[in-house]
Amino acid sequence: MSIKVNNITKNYGAQKALNDVSLKIDAGEIVGLVGPNGAGKSTLMKIITCYLPQTSGDAFVCDFNVIEHSLEVRKKVGYLPEHNPLYLDMYVIEFLEFIGGIYKLGKNLKSRVAEMMEITGLELERKKKIGALSKGYRQRVGLAQALIHNPEVLILDEPTSGLDPNQIIEIRNLIKEIGKEKTVLFSTHIMQEVEAICNKVIVIDKGKIVADRTTADMHKFTANVQMISVEFDTKVEKSELLNIPGVLDAIAVKDFLWSIRTEPDKDARPEIFKFAVKHNITVLSMNMEEQSLEETFHQLTQSGIQ
Ligand code: ADP
Repeated sequence: MSIKVNNITKNYGAQKALNDVSLKIDAGEIVGLVGPNGAGKSTLMKIITCYLPQTSGDAFVCDFNVIEHSLEVRKKVGYLPEHNPLYLDMYVIEFLEFIGGIYKLGKNLKSRVAEMMEITGLELERKKKIGALSKGYRQRVGLAQALIHNPEVLILDEPTSGLDPNQIIEIRNLIKEIGKEKTVLFSTHIMQEVEAICNKVIVIDKGKIVADRTTADMHKFTANVQMISVEFDTKVEKSELLNIPGVLDAIAVKDFLWSIRTEPDKDARPEIFKFAVKHNITVLSMNMEEQSLEETFHQLTQSGIQ
């Protein structure tokens, strides 16, 4: 087991950032930690990487307790924090040698730095100051520093945030490549990113895990949820829609347009139609929708369905 988190709670004063969170990540998995801003993703990552102590509960990396064996944990973990803090006045090669020095790489330092620059595609930039690099290349420097001591586990906090679409693809590919050899936990609020890279997704909302599934299971879960998009010609109350047989939830998309979640394996359209006729409402359009992972994420983090 690469990462094990048992009943972790973290309070910042009166604010509960994590509330009894438990999870397990096996060696070799690439896991997406997804959640809206303020969900507790960074806090969880800071606890796993020994940057912040939890209020209660236990966390382990490669079976080392993050509090009791924090030095061992730090050897096992590479961490790219959110906003990737770097020394902008340092040259790329100088910075990586500096970080390698902290990890006491000794005679392996030069070769390891060269290897990191090759893996992350930084060779041509090595004599540039970090401040002169594009955001995508700065992320590569961040990844190189996180990998330099050859950790088994890589923790990446929003590694693609703020990048342009090309840079996002490059960094995603890099993470996929690195993930062939390491356990990777990375946070994002983009569900497609999880689909593109991960074999597992953990959804967190308001400090609680609301889903923990393989991406394949998430798809099955998605397939089990049926959504119907209906547009009426007038205002309808949500409570009225919830009374229609087979309707589980109704989300107002705009004015008279609703996204209605219904029981799986049952076509609720005839019931919705009967409801409209009974109340003398016209149905302007009605379509069965396939729910995307993005919508599943939205639902999970709005209503806490599991
Ligand atoms: P995420 O990474 O999912 O955006 P965070 O872990 O950064 O979420 O934050 C979780 C909650 O804890 C938020 O409500 C945030 O405002 C709060 N929080 C984070 N860091 C601190 C801190 N140092 N002091 C007080 N509250 C904090």
